[in-house]
Amino acid sequence: MKVGVLGGGQLGRMLALAGYPLGLRFRFLDPAPESPVEELAELVVGRFDDLAVLAQFPDGLDVITYEFENVPVEAARHLARSAPVHPSPRALEVSQDRLAEKTLFASLGITPAPFAAVDSFADLEKAVGEVGLPAVLKTRRLGYDGKGQMTIRSAAEVVAAWRGLGGVPLVLEGFVAFERELSQIGVRGRDGDVALYPLVQNHHEGGILRLSIAPAPDVSDQLQEQAGTAVRMVMERLDYVGVLAVEFFQKGGELIANEMAPRVHNSGHWTIEGARTSQFENHLRAVVGWPLGPAEAVGHSAMVNLIGEVPTPPRVLAVPAAHLHLYGKKPRAGRKLGHVTVWAATAAERDEKMARLRGLPGCLV
Ligand code: AMP
Repeated sequence: MKVGVLGGGQLGRMLALAGYPLGLRFRFLDPAPESPVEELAELVVGRFDDLAVLAQFPDGLDVITYEFENVPVEAARHLARSAPVHPSPRALEVSQDRLAEKTLFASLGITPAPFAAVDSFADLEKAVGEVGLPAVLKTRRLGYDGKGQMTIRSAAEVVAAWRGLGGVPLVLEGFVAFERELSQIGVRGRDGDVALYPLVQNHHEGGILRLSIAPAPDVSDQLQEQAGTAVRMVMERLDYVGVLAVEFFQKGGELIANEMAPRVHNSGHWTIEGARTSQFENHLRAVVGWPLGPAEAVGHSAMVNLIGEVPTPPRVLAVPAAHLHLYGKKPRAGRKLGHVTVWAATAAERDEKMARLRGLPGCLV
């Protein structure tokens, strides 16, 4: 079986690394010649909207998926005429638009932060009245890692936020004074079978994920059930195939849905060592139509992103049960260059090992 993947970043690289033992082969499409998949798989360098490239790409492929959610929906629809595309272009479309995403959550009874669409300054003033302050103004499309958003703390900041972001479709959402951020990753097969990973606790800074703790500590059965049901409902509504991640804020006993990603997710990297089947393997099993693997956690894991610079491998590997994943990317400030997962049988031991990573280059935890 040969899988086509739109996007050739680190997520694609980890998909390929998970797929080779299953006998899968890969072809990637990415506009950048120096992509993390370049050294390990066939890479077509081309634009996602180049019709000549899209005409050639599906040749000999059994299924097409993506590892980057800003692939143009039209490209996914175009390719779907030649080969099955999973998750569906519809799922891609919803997750590219924060307004569509929140509307979907709300329609399923999954609570988002209060929100309002903003297309003009008058809309923004009205939305501030409805949603209240503080609030976060976000671009509806193409925002990631905290880009394309501004917090409005007082009425005096409304004009500046409009100047900073106005001109493209926006959404204003209430600022959530959350206690912590959690994510729920699930996978759904072509036959509708679903596997759910445990809730993960995430720490972001400057909008970039720094650390994931898995399973998240102090999760009641009810909270886990609520998150799992939410992901299951989204997947069923979209007739979804593949891995889906939904990010939540927790405030008291309540989960507030922030956004979803129709792909393998940074907060699921721990599953490579810390779950019975990694999110990468399960995504591939789902999209090619094979049985899913069990998603339970084995022991306790922590995943630390390496941002901007990387430590030398021996410094990481000196920590017992630390696993290093480098993405083959050139160092640049703020860039995700790799990650480290530490694994232990108990949470206390895991925290002890994680503490030993502090201060290593790129480990900003
Ligand atoms: P996003 O791009 O929506 O994932 O936002 C990036 C990060 O900004 C989140 O992980 C939060 O840490 C923070 N953030 C986003 N939206 C809100 C909100 N409505 N209230 C509080 N913090 C937020």
